[in-house]
Amino acid sequence: MSIVNAKEMLLRATDEKYAVGAFNITNLIQMEAVVEAAVNKKAPLIIQTSVTPSKFLGAKVLACIYRTLAESAPIPICLHLDHCSDVEFCKECADAGYTNIMIDASKEIFKENIRQTKHVCGYCHGIGNISVEGELGTVSGVEDQVKVAEDEAALCDPEQALKFVDETGVDIFAPAIGTAHGVYKTKNPKLDFDRLKRISELINGDEPKVPLVIHGGTGLQPDVVKRLVFLGGSKFNVSTDLKYALIDTTYDYISSHRDEYNPGKVDAAIKATIMNRIYYWIDMLGCAGKA
Ligand SMILES: [Zn+2]
Repeated sequence: MSIVNAKEMLLRATDEKYAVGAFNITNLIQMEAVVEAAVNKKAPLIIQTSVTPSKFLGAKVLACIYRTLAESAPIPICLHLDHCSDVEFCKECADAGYTNIMIDASKEIFKENIRQTKHVCGYCHGIGNISVEGELGTVSGVEDQVKVAEDEAALCDPEQALKFVDETGVDIFAPAIGTAHGVYKTKNPKLDFDRLKRISELINGDEPKVPLVIHGGTGLQPDVVKRLVFLGGSKFNVSTDLKYALIDTTYDYISSHRDEYNPGKVDAAIKATIMNRIYYWIDMLGCAGKA
């Protein structure tokens, strides 16, 4: 039950109207912190890595650490490749042991997005227990190598979303509804709740079929997060928040212990901060006790 793909856990989340936290990590300490916090909260978990850290650390190394941690954890855990626009690297990570792959061809024209997404679905489903996330419309901001200006970001058309899901066979789906990567420039970003509601009704109205993903979780107010979850977002991506936690804690710790040379203490401080952030998100998303 520990090593699972994203679709299995998200169908239940969609049905019961809670969301699973999908947390981006860049190193071992973060991965351990995320897993330990989710275990303490008895929450299902999605660990994510972007393309750059996946290549830097190595997909096989990450998949091995994930398997080791997941096998002894009493909760379902998925390892997800985030925003990959390179079909071949999607396949490499699937081969390495990731259990969910995001092919992000959202910058391509509709037809090409369908073609690439369908291709990755065929490959991952052929291997076995691997689900695939696709995206339609574009999320503004910077996520790893993908940069989208705010005025270039296009929201997802509901009718096209239904067509995209039907034709690609994608397992989980990220519609662009106005959320952004990075830090929001305003306290109240313009989100299109009605659009999410419409997409959710069209795709999952009768029964949960293709769970929906909300990108750009960092900085959204708790009432906004809860509303997005209520309207059908069942995978909630959080990345920037954890990067800030990592960098700020490292800086603060070293600044106040400048004569100390004990890496383990720096790691312990980072782990504690990250775990607190994960508790915050899990409580807000309503997935505590759902493992
Ligand atoms: Zn994203």
